[in-house]
Amino acid sequence: MKSSTNPRTINYIVVHCTAGRTTQTLADLRREFRQKGWQAPGYHYVVTRDGHVERLLGEDKVANGVKGHNHDAIHIAYIGGINDRTLQPEDNRTPYQKRALADQLRLLHLIYPRAVIQGHRDFAGVKKACPCFDAKREYSYLNR
Ligand SMILES: [Zn+2]
Repeated sequence: MKSSTNPRTINYIVVHCTAGRTTQTLADLRREFRQKGWQAPGYHYVVTRDGHVERLLGEDKVANGVKGHNHDAIHIAYIGGINDRTLQPEDNRTPYQKRALADQLRLLHLIYPRAVIQGHRDFAGVKKACPCFDAKREYSYLNR
């Protein structure tokens, strides 16, 4: 649905992990996007390990979060999502990140009440574990 502040129609608010080590910085992440040759960052918002929500892109702009699902989505990611040693998918959100994610999603839900909140992996055909937890279930109290 449209909001007064965003000319785009937002049908999805998509939760991601950055699939980076827990030591990954925002600068590392921006470098990664540049190295992929992306014009836009992968996410609109990134939640740092200490629970700071950094805006990488305005909500009116299209990010590179999920192929085929960017034009009508807002993407938010937490830094982490892989085990630092094994590099295997892992829900390693800090308590600060859990709280900041929930707060940011509640705000986004106020602006886009009809948008579905779900994880990257909840789109049909996606083979990734991202965001390494069941976002649809965890935030089901916001989806209706
Ligand atoms: Zn993702």
